[in-house]
Amino acid sequence: MIHDKCGVIGIWNGPDAAHLAYAGLYAIQHRGQESAGIAVSDGDHIRLHKGMGQVVDVFDADTLKHRLIGNYAIGHTRYSTSGGSHEENAQPLHAHLAVGEVAIAHNGQITNAGSLQQELEERGAIFQTSADTEVVFHLMATHAQQSFLDRLTHAVGRIQGAFSLVMLHKDQLIGVRDPDGFRPLCLGRKEDAYVLASETCALDLMGAKYIREVEPGEIVIISRNGVVSHRVGERKEGHFCVFELIYFSRPDSLFQGRSILNIRRALGRKLAEEAPAPDAEVVINAPDSSNAAALGYADASGIPYELGMIRNHYIGRTFIEPAQSIRDWRARIKYNPVRSAIEGRSIVLVDDSIVRGTTSRRLIRMLRDAGARAIHLRISSPIFAHPCFYGIDTPDYDQLIGHRLGNEERIREYLETDSLNYMSHEGLKEVMKETAGLNSYCDACFTGNYTVPIEDARPMRSMHSALKPSSIVGQPPGAGGAEEWRA
Ligand code: AMP
Repeated sequence: MIHDKCGVIGIWNGPDAAHLAYAGLYAIQHRGQESAGIAVSDGDHIRLHKGMGQVVDVFDADTLKHRLIGNYAIGHTRYSTSGGSHEENAQPLHAHLAVGEVAIAHNGQITNAGSLQQELEERGAIFQTSADTEVVFHLMATHAQQSFLDRLTHAVGRIQGAFSLVMLHKDQLIGVRDPDGFRPLCLGRKEDAYVLASETCALDLMGAKYIREVEPGEIVIISRNGVVSHRVGERKEGHFCVFELIYFSRPDSLFQGRSILNIRRALGRKLAEEAPAPDAEVVINAPDSSNAAALGYADASGIPYELGMIRNHYIGRTFIEPAQSIRDWRARIKYNPVRSAIEGRSIVLVDDSIVRGTTSRRLIRMLRDAGARAIHLRISSPIFAHPCFYGIDTPDYDQLIGHRLGNEERIREYLETDSLNYMSHEGLKEVMKETAGLNSYCDACFTGNYTVPIEDARPMRSMHSALKPSSIVGQPPGAGGAEEWRA
């Protein structure tokens, strides 16, 4: 089964729903660049267009104007985990059920999808994709003789894990959030239209006003009767994904009305308090996800912030390597240090996280080549040592440098920095409480504390085998394996 980290959009009663969805998808492109899709309903039929690549590659004016006709739409951007990069898994998914056509788009990961699939196949279901989301259709289909809402409630009651879903059924737009509320989903309004989106930055681009979050364990059905709310399962407080706030969401989005930029900046300030770098002369960011944390570090330390590293935004998914070997070509095409800001100086490099360690190692090498006198790496989150099973695409245990090397000193040696410090768990907790208003959250990637059980002991068909922690092996992370680059 394939699981994705993704972004979703929904429009109800928008005169130009496909165009609005398209705008919304642009704003959440960072949540997935592998495939994109929009499904539109005219109240009767659903039309679907999806494909591999970014939003700009998948849609053209003709498709949006002449093919995707209707006032109700959902959209999806997808970032697949390893091995799942196939068109069949692009979303939204579409099916004909006894209650009519339905389309669905999903952000998250259904942790019991493997056993549900087996059960459903034994009862005769034929799966068309390897996306975990497809189990929702089969669960709805087999709950025969029931209304759409009963089928949906039944399906949502059986799936576990992380899911923010948007669905289309006739002239209804549906939003669902799992009882833990791992992944975000917010509701907004634009004149007579309602919109759903993974992040509020999409509401901004669509010209919609933020109303509220879809609550953990809530189904909202948006129709001529307005927004009607239903509950699925007990709402469990405090499992929102803290990594959304540290890295994944856009800093111009709001989390429960609070600025994610401010949250990241506060993390940077806390980091400067916890882990000063007394001899440093300049703070630089690892572009672009850590810009806010680097600003915060500079604010609190009094060390000036510099744009020391520039990122090239025009790199496609694949590029042709020059025949003549260029040292660190893969890093150089994406990042370039600004020599005048770096040469001869002692630098604090702030990043939000280290996953495989590949990016940091390369950035550090480039900073040395550009003449840095000393490099102090500061990370605005604790050691990332456990894979995410709730919708963030992370590698297996054996590729996580935090798991392989285990402690700051060993990671520092591998990265060849003069010093390395991560944010403490207490520091993170304090900032989340004070700046994000979050008293508890899911931090399984830092602690291994998985609040929802992960698949019933059966290996899933094609998901990465992340469940077995492997011992530390000699080969450095990234060596010989596929290179992963941050989006
Ligand atoms: P690496 O250590 O080479 O795997 O890359 C870590 C960098 O990628 C950090 O600077 C993060 O900002 C970013 N990053 C963190 N988590 C992810 C993720 N799940 N997917 C892609 N990039 C990520």
